[in-house]
Amino acid sequence: DDAGVPGRVRVAVRLRPRNAEEMVADADFADCVELQPEVKRLKLRKNNWDSDTYEFDEVLTEFASQKRVYEVVAKPVVESVLDGYNGTVMAYGQTGTGKTYTLGRLGEEDTAARGIMVRAMEDILADVSQESDSVSVSYLQLYMETIQDLLDPTNDNISIVEDPKTGDVSLPGASIVEIRDQQSFVELLRLGEAHRFAANTRLNTESSRSHAILMVHVKRSVKGRDSALSSDNGNNSHMVKSLKPPVVRKGKLVVVDLAGSERIDKSGSEGHTLEEAKSINLSLSALGKCINALAENSPHVPVRDSKLTRLLRDSFGGTARTSLVITIGPSPRHRGETASTIMFGQRAM
Ligand code: ADP
Ligand code: MG
Repeated sequence: DDAGVPGRVRVAVRLRPRNAEEMVADADFADCVELQPEVKRLKLRKNNWDSDTYEFDEVLTEFASQKRVYEVVAKPVVESVLDGYNGTVMAYGQTGTGKTYTLGRLGEEDTAARGIMVRAMEDILADVSQESDSVSVSYLQLYMETIQDLLDPTNDNISIVEDPKTGDVSLPGASIVEIRDQQSFVELLRLGEAHRFAANTRLNTESSRSHAILMVHVKRSVKGRDSALSSDNGNNSHMVKSLKPPVVRKGKLVVVDLAGSERIDKSGSEGHTLEEAKSINLSLSALGKCINALAENSPHVPVRDSKLTRLLRDSFGGTARTSLVITIGPSPRHRGETASTIMFGQRAM
């Protein structure tokens, strides 16, 4: 299993169950896909007798639990962040297919329903223990190439600064909130969601047309032989283990709930949606190009083409781990969108 191999993007596909409307409207029709999780294959129906077959790193059926999805999609990335690397978990798919369900569910009434963000924080908090350790988060929305702070609505135009030497990305001006317990993290996510809703109402847009980005900075000091993995212990590996001072490991986890990948219908929509469509296409296609470049081991990853990819530049490629979950629905009426989501996932591998 290459779950921990840096560079390559791991791609999982997740099918959501039929919703109430689809159970009625599609009652006489088969799903547009057929999943074979044991062999990690997905068949996309072409017609009644023919289908195309695709392979993924993981195939998650409508029966896959949130726990299993976390373990397959995010846990290896979280573990490498705790080891001092950067990592990204992204969800890509048509609006209504389960991106937010997969990443963002708080599951306060039902812990089994908790999504990736909450489960990741739980694992991170369980692993930071010392006084000097810290976990802090930023929560942002990227809309029309503008970055807004979801933790402070007055911060509505945050700029990206890249260190020319290290390539490290920082967002001066974005709120960074230290997290001490799970409860305060969940409250922060809820606050961010409320601010997102308010901002989108004010801008007269929908949350499906922007990207939501959670950044978790983890700083941990590690003693003894554990420190061998640290990125900043330089060349003192010849030193006697017991003499090693504690080493600080810094990792960053970025979780991205991407804008809906559907083509926005130009007819009958308000004036601003065509601009939105262009902006979403720009960032998702820039992301696709970067992921393809990683998949092909290309030395040139074109991160400069959009704010989304500039923001992610130190969080994928290199030593960073990247995991992509593509979400699809079963309805034969959305076969076209489902096919294009599958192709995005295939090109990433
Ligand atoms: P997206 O964020 O991609 O637009 P959502 O996460 O909001 O989609 O999901 C759309 C609807 O489908 C929601 O009502 C959600 O609860 C439901 N849903 C999505 N995925 C699943 C799933 N795996 N199991 C059950 N319901 C789901
Ligand atoms: Mg959503």
